[in-house]
Amino acid sequence: MSDFAATKAMFHLPEGVIYLDGNSLGPLPKAAGARMERAMRDEWGEMLITGWNKAGWMAQPAELGDRIARLIGAEPGHVMLGDTLSIKVYQALAAALEMRPERRVILSDSGNFPSDLYMAEGLIGALDRGYELRVVAPEEVADAINPDVAVTLLTEVDYRTGRMHDMAALTARAHDAGALTIWDLAHSAGAVPVDLAGVDADFAVGCTYKFLNGGPGAPAFIYVAPRYADHARPALSGWLGHAAPFDFEQVYRAGEGLARMRVGTPPVLAMAALDSALDIWDGVDMKALRTRAQTLSERFIASVEDSCPMLELASPRDPEARGSQVSFRFAQGYAAMQACIAQGVIGDFRAPDIMRFGITPLYIDAGDIDRAAAVIARVMQDRLWDDPAYQARSAVT
Ligand SMILES: *Cc1c(COP(=O)(O)O)cnc(C)c1O
Repeated sequence: MSDFAATKAMFHLPEGVIYLDGNSLGPLPKAAGARMERAMRDEWGEMLITGWNKAGWMAQPAELGDRIARLIGAEPGHVMLGDTLSIKVYQALAAALEMRPERRVILSDSGNFPSDLYMAEGLIGALDRGYELRVVAPEEVADAINPDVAVTLLTEVDYRTGRMHDMAALTARAHDAGALTIWDLAHSAGAVPVDLAGVDADFAVGCTYKFLNGGPGAPAFIYVAPRYADHARPALSGWLGHAAPFDFEQVYRAGEGLARMRVGTPPVLAMAALDSALDIWDGVDMKALRTRAQTLSERFIASVEDSCPMLELASPRDPEARGSQVSFRFAQGYAAMQACIAQGVIGDFRAPDIMRFGITPLYIDAGDIDRAAAVIARVMQDRLWDDPAYQARSAVT
């Protein structure tokens, strides 16, 4: 049984703040400071370059990958950490396209995060072999999977609305049509139960700074199904993915299994923070987390809808069709969110009109939900958002 009062106590949560933005950047685990301090003082400071061996830095991308594997239903040894999510999208996509050489279509949907689409565009340009990025509405994806499609590039949970794709059904459908699948788990890992092995996924990618709480800029991860791990060709063929990096051979030979998905030197200090964040996940059952997230989300929606008729639910009403966030549409959403933040309730805004609130049971409880809903009610009913101070947009929304 997961103890969510205990997990809440493991985070530093600033006084007077209710943090409903853990879907964008998770809060600081209290143990992270000491863990990073140790990595700096005892490892970097004292061991210098010998830390790569003595402190196990070189093995960490695979070890931390194994800790994440449990949370996403991946086979041990098949999740590798490194780089950013955008780069891992590129890598997975390049590998998948090579495995379907006679096909030319990458299928994605208009709810996907722009960076995934941009990376696909960039790869298509670099390959210059007539590939097409076909973007359809999320509800049209299933019907758009046909024998032209080499690979589907889909984010399971829509970053704006929280709408979830049916990963099992779409994977099966893609396989029936002879296509491969890449699942982006940016808003799934640490948010909803994922069963990569169970749904027979081919590739998956995700980040660790959102629901997993690894810290700003924490490294991304990539999953490759065991059946492909030894022959997927990593288009980004860096030296640490080489079969023998320290032989310094002149010609690239891909390493065994997932090791080939490594590119360059891993971010040791960032991995130390992530390591302490993953300690918190060790005692958490993803099904219990999901149930609690759904209960909290239902409570939040009911309360906000009751007091704020001007806000329109943008997320699916069916809890099973929704990830771990709740979004509302409001024409003045940016200003309204700024007003909420000024009152201590932190969510975020996604253009053009989405107010987004992450529901993260590791450190949000029913009392937080009630207090947040009361603040939102005051902001909306008293039109606190209607203040020029809340109109000016910052670079990061
Ligand atoms: C957050 C997010 C990203 C961000 O990619 P980075 O390279 O880590 O900045 C990419 N894709 C999706 C679906 C996301 O939600």
